[in-house]
Amino acid sequence: MRIVIVGAGLGGLLLARVLHLNGLDAVVYERESSHAARPQGGMLDIHSGQRALREAGLIDGFSAIARGAGQDMRLLEPDGTLLLQEDTPEDAPLDRPEVDRADLRALLLDALPEHTVRWGHAFDHADGHVAHFANGNRASYDLLVGADGANSRVRALLTEVRPAHIGQNVVEIGIPDIDRTHPELAAMLGRGNYWALGNGQSLAAQRNGDGRVRIGLSFYNTAEDWFATSGIPFGDPPAARARLIELFAGWDARFTALIAACEDTILPRSITALPVGLTWPSRPGITLLGDAAHLMPPVGQGANLALLDGALLGRTLAANPDDVPAAVAEYERQMFERAGAAARMSADMQELLMSPDAARKMLEFFQPG
Ligand SMILES: Cc1cc2nc3c(=O)[nH]c(=O)nc-3n(C[C@H](O)[C@H](O)[C@H](O)COP(=O)(O)OP(=O)(O)OC[C@H]3O[C@@H](n4cnc5c(N)ncnc54)[C@H](O)[C@@H]3O)c2cc1C
Repeated sequence: MRIVIVGAGLGGLLLARVLHLNGLDAVVYERESSHAARPQGGMLDIHSGQRALREAGLIDGFSAIARGAGQDMRLLEPDGTLLLQEDTPEDAPLDRPEVDRADLRALLLDALPEHTVRWGHAFDHADGHVAHFANGNRASYDLLVGADGANSRVRALLTEVRPAHIGQNVVEIGIPDIDRTHPELAAMLGRGNYWALGNGQSLAAQRNGDGRVRIGLSFYNTAEDWFATSGIPFGDPPAARARLIELFAGWDARFTALIAACEDTILPRSITALPVGLTWPSRPGITLLGDAAHLMPPVGQGANLALLDGALLGRTLAANPDDVPAAVAEYERQMFERAGAAARMSADMQELLMSPDAARKMLEFFQPG
């Protein structure tokens, strides 16, 4: 069986690993030129995805790179009222640890036979069971798996549906080496997640493994073209910081101090998602996993689902090596069901975050009754 996986992200690599464990070979084609071509971003909260890592024989490796203290949580209101502080005891189980995305990707890459990943291969289109790449190379397949993330190109082979803006725009800022550069802010943030929510905005800070703090400033109920009208001059970092502080007028001074302390890399991110419950008629020879199949609001589900999808598809193919269409149909049935439920949960969480009293609602979510 010739299996072509497009995308060496979390889901695609996990799939390749599970197939390998079951004696099935796959080739992963990745558009980036090498594993280090692009910074892999921040921390991921990995919970249900641990089941997939266990199935892939990688749970010990995961435990070695997971940060239990990343489970710490501080929840505040815009006026600075602390509603919740949870500090993870040293011996607490690793239920929802944080892991550096680059470390997790490296764990998955190292678990594959050499040359499984072909770097510098951007998928362009497919015809007659042949995948064509932007560099002119081609690959024949019995099964093409689109694991190519939020802006999947493979998706168009199965559905015309595209991700749509969800009324959230995020400005991403960061403070490098915070313990040394801003010890007082480091102490305020703690070891894990620090969320200030309310008034249609939020500030979510998270400590990364390398001592950097990554902060997302979200503006809810904003249009897709909001950045053009927001008055944030991204090309002029001091002026951008000043404008962001202005946009957080009325918030406690400790929050705006975080914005004042951030470095010059200030990035706009427009948030999109696929419709809740998206499905497509099963087509023999092509399927999707992860964000390509079910991009959701960024509330901590996506990486977990991508890993679970990879394990499920790998397992289903290994159980039906002579009947790829049946394996794909069974995988999609189970994946649609799980992704639909997770997408509904993510949409509810998104609605909560958008509400004026988001911090109180979040507290009720964490401490029902
Ligand atoms: C800021 C942020 C924080 C997040 N935090 C969390 C969290 O805490 N917990 C959680 O569960 N999820 C989190 N997520 C979501 C999570 O990162 C994604 O859902 C997850 O990475 C999806 O995995 P994937 O394998 O589907 O796609 P990706 O990891 O995006 O991988 C897709 C791969 O495909 C490659 N590719 C794309 N197009 C092509 C092409 N044409 N040809 C070849 N290769 C291609 C890309 O280069 C990439 O390597 C977060 C997302 C963001 C943006």
